[in-house]
Amino acid sequence: MSPQLVHGCVAPEPPTQLENPVLELTATLQTTLDIHALIDTFARELRRHVDVDGLVYENAALGIRVDFEDDALHRASYDVVVGREQLGELRVMRGQPFAARELERIENFLCALVYPLRNALTYRLAVERAFRDPLTGALNRGALDEALQREAEVARRQGTPLALLMIDIDHFKAINDTHGHRYGDDVLRAVAHTLNDTIRRSDALYRYGGEEFVVVASHTQPVGAQQLAERLRCNVGAIATVAGRPLRVTVSVGVAGLEPGESPESLFQRADRALYRAKANGRNRVESDEVAAAAAAC
Ligand code: GH3
Ligand code: MG
Ligand code: MG
Repeated sequence: MSPQLVHGCVAPEPPTQLENPVLELTATLQTTLDIHALIDTFARELRRHVDVDGLVYENAALGIRVDFEDDALHRASYDVVVGREQLGELRVMRGQPFAARELERIENFLCALVYPLRNALTYRLAVERAFRDPLTGALNRGALDEALQREAEVARRQGTPLALLMIDIDHFKAINDTHGHRYGDDVLRAVAHTLNDTIRRSDALYRYGGEEFVVVASHTQPVGAQQLAERLRCNVGAIATVAGRPLRVTVSVGVAGLEPGESPESLFQRADRALYRAKANGRNRVESDEVAAAAAAC
């Protein structure tokens, strides 16, 4: 591995006065694989040696941004690179310009960040891969099991509402049979994309299996969940073409809200039963255990 760790930064050699803080920082940073904790520690330690007003770490390719405090007029920006690997960009900001000596310090500190940052990014990618469905990009069933337990526990502790939506593509087998499995895969991707674009950023889409998806909607009352289900149904119904071919595709949705003392398994079963009713009652519709919200006119 090349010692050229960071753009414009070489690991300090021979030893300088700064080496101890840098080595100490390297050791500290190696104790976490969490990117937020890592940048937090880095910012805290850097501030003990250089007066800075704000710090931003950004990895646009992975959609990661960690920032501390406000933007300021003067900034030093670094592309963090190991070999050919782009690890992201780090910006340090301040109201006053940085002196050359301070920039040298920042660069020395950056050297301590590079390898722990690379480890944290590698770990994050591995976790992402383990919990993501490669076909649709939705989270997978393992992630769903974890999220459901976690969200139900949060809802119970904080007394906040939690809803679960089960979504199933209607007559999907016929799409496969008519157009082939490859095209069926394109349809799955298109539907997942539309579902994902419709939910809030704080909610997550899971592929439960085959052509079935789940949305875990935290802080959502049953009526809100039914409205979300109608939006999902309408937006999927509005898909006009998939992979350049005209296609009409619809989904049925079952909705249930967590009741006091209810287990996540029971919530899941009630949403599943509601989905079954949506199928039995004609498909392309939303069913819920609660008082039905009006079906949306798409
Ligand atoms: P319904 O309206 O009752 O839900 O009918 P359906 O045809 O959608 O449901 P059914 O369970 O009969 O068929 C689901 C089909 O989904 C059968 C299976 O081959 C297909 N399938 C499951 N996973 C995939 C996949 O990853 N890609 C493709 N192309 N097809 C899949
Ligand atoms: Mg189906
Ligand atoms: Mg199904």
